[in-house]
Amino acid sequence: MRNPHAGRPIPPEVTDQEIAAALEDLSVPALLMACVHLVETEDQRRAILDGPLRPQGLFLNEYQGYMSPEDQSAARAFALEVITAWRERGCPEPEPLPTSLLHEMMAWLACDVVGDEYVPMVLEELALDGADSRAPAPMAGASAYPVVVIGCGMSGLLAAIRLQEAGFPFVVVEKNAGPGGTWLENRYPGARVDVGSHFYSYSFEPADHWTEFFSRQPELQAYFERVADERGIREHVRFGVEATAATYDDEQGTWTVTLDDGTDLVGRAVVCAVGQLNRPFVPDVPGEFAGPAFHTARWPDDVDLTGKDVVMVGAGATGFQVAPAIADQVRSLTVLQRTAQWMFPNPGYHDAVGPGVGWAIRHLPFYGRWFRFLTLWPGTDTGLAAAKVDPAWEPQQQSVSEVNEMVRLMFTEWITSQITVDGDADPDLVAKVVPPYPPTAKRTLQDNGSWLRTLTRDNVELVRAGVSRLEADAVVDSDGVRHPADIVVWATGFRANDFLVPMTVTGRGGLDLHEHWGARPRGHLGITVPGFPSFFMLYGPATNLASGGSIILASECEVAYVLGCLRMLVEAGGGSIEPTVAAYDDYYERTQAEVKTMVWSSPYIGHGYYQDASGEVHGLNPWRLVDYWAWTRDPDPADFEVR
Ligand SMILES: Cc1cc2nc3c(=O)[nH]c(=O)nc-3n(C[C@H](O)[C@H](O)[C@H](O)COP(=O)(O)OP(=O)(O)OC[C@H]3O[C@@H](n4cnc5c(N)ncnc54)[C@H](O)[C@@H]3O)c2cc1C
Repeated sequence: MRNPHAGRPIPPEVTDQEIAAALEDLSVPALLMACVHLVETEDQRRAILDGPLRPQGLFLNEYQGYMSPEDQSAARAFALEVITAWRERGCPEPEPLPTSLLHEMMAWLACDVVGDEYVPMVLEELALDGADSRAPAPMAGASAYPVVVIGCGMSGLLAAIRLQEAGFPFVVVEKNAGPGGTWLENRYPGARVDVGSHFYSYSFEPADHWTEFFSRQPELQAYFERVADERGIREHVRFGVEATAATYDDEQGTWTVTLDDGTDLVGRAVVCAVGQLNRPFVPDVPGEFAGPAFHTARWPDDVDLTGKDVVMVGAGATGFQVAPAIADQVRSLTVLQRTAQWMFPNPGYHDAVGPGVGWAIRHLPFYGRWFRFLTLWPGTDTGLAAAKVDPAWEPQQQSVSEVNEMVRLMFTEWITSQITVDGDADPDLVAKVVPPYPPTAKRTLQDNGSWLRTLTRDNVELVRAGVSRLEADAVVDSDGVRHPADIVVWATGFRANDFLVPMTVTGRGGLDLHEHWGARPRGHLGITVPGFPSFFMLYGPATNLASGGSIILASECEVAYVLGCLRMLVEAGGGSIEPTVAAYDDYYERTQAEVKTMVWSSPYIGHGYYQDASGEVHGLNPWRLVDYWAWTRDPDPADFEVR
């Protein structure tokens, strides 16, 4: 069978001009790497890799490697010759390239050294050999281990796909009417992903359909719907029912999952994929507002903002997307934001994907894979260095290390450039929009200038305050100023530190998970907890990524690990599997020690974002993705007890 990434043969009726037109839409560096696969001899490969047409640098979301327009056009002309010659040969499947050469190609695209330890992870993610090596092999005996999956967002759907491949009987329960989780619920105007879609998609699914580089919510929801349908998962899901409790029966070695429709499901394992950002947080504010008021994750389909005075409370990742999307519709928009947000320059944030991209992913061998590398690599682990605190660096209020200071200067310049008119930036506005805390301490937002442009509109006001009281027709801010409102939007985020709520989870001997955790939710690798046999969490404690990477990659690592644990259980013919207390405690202590060396724990952030009420951080993964990937590849039997 032809490698699915090796390109479907180009139909004979496609003209050279049509191919040339498609190439105009492509990333030239990724195109040249496709050419390395397409040429026939070692000399031709060397001519590409050693030649003058090459990227000058790699920056997140800059896909042309800073190549000059002349070099880009020369490279496209060269690629056209290579592609037409390949077509004349009948579009044969390219020979596999040696790992050493693939490693060189990674470094060529990255314009930097790619450490040896990253090569296996990148190869697995790119699947250049056409093999989905994270897919579990069918397991003899799996049929005796029914599994209940709670949640059918990106993670639960992924777990279902892998359980099906391995041969486990499974049922998924999902409180919503369809799959997609985050991308079904967050239907607010402007909702879109901020990790490039060609990376924010399952590694084993085609990515030739995205119409924008950072897809909007409807396209993301449609993606998860389609994957659920095509993979035959939908018929295993009970939509519209919420799991209220999961209880382990010591004697039977089974879990009973209680549903809010009065029924139960019984399984020998539970995969809990309820998300970290699924329960909206709305502050408890005195007073009552008479008009429509809703959280951004509960945006009513029928609300009409036309000509209305809207007060939006909060402007983190979500409010930042909402404001530009509604500003021209409303009569006035007042945004209450306690602290400014750091923004990452991304001029192409709203750009459409040209039709040539989908064509190239379908027809040019490995183009899509190398394009995935371009979106993956600059966001993988590089941001972590900028988040690490150098205790000797001063002043810590402003930045936490030399690298962090460089990031601060770069971001400050970007923000200031957006509000500079005729060479001058209004110092009051600069003070208002340049954050007073170190960069990357809170989620850094992707920015193409639309937020600051929105703030300069006559009908938009940014108020640097919180909310203190509601009145029937107004919101009163923390400085006592009254803002008249027809509609209140709560862009106040999620209960990110309250894991697995409001479910009750009861393990061995009646142990309650939330009581066991207290204020410190945790899991071995964020996945398993002693005393909770064969209970696995996805996107659980200490698995969120604050410094780049995609949660889909993290979930693919976690699900591979869960399937590895289940394999251990099945192969041993055991009743249950759980981590040792030693492994669990050790991971927690090491992770907490590491988290405390990161900017997210900084006491100078002002308002806890990742921090809980006592300043601790339990949601974030402080480790390099390559380490987390390596640790989750295969569970270490020494970390587990199979009973
Ligand atoms: C607005 C927004 C933007 C984001 N942007 C990005 C991004 O750009 N890049 C990125 O990597 N990540 C992003 N994230 C994080 C995002 O949550 C993850 O990428 C991913 O969608 C998580 O998938 P999940 O399945 O783990 O969780 P979720 O998508 O939250 O899905 C959890 C599912 O479980 C269901 N559920 C919960 N409790 C129960 C219960 N008791 N019974 C039954 N069903 C239940 C929910 O209904 C939901 O369908 C964003 C999150 C938000 C909120």
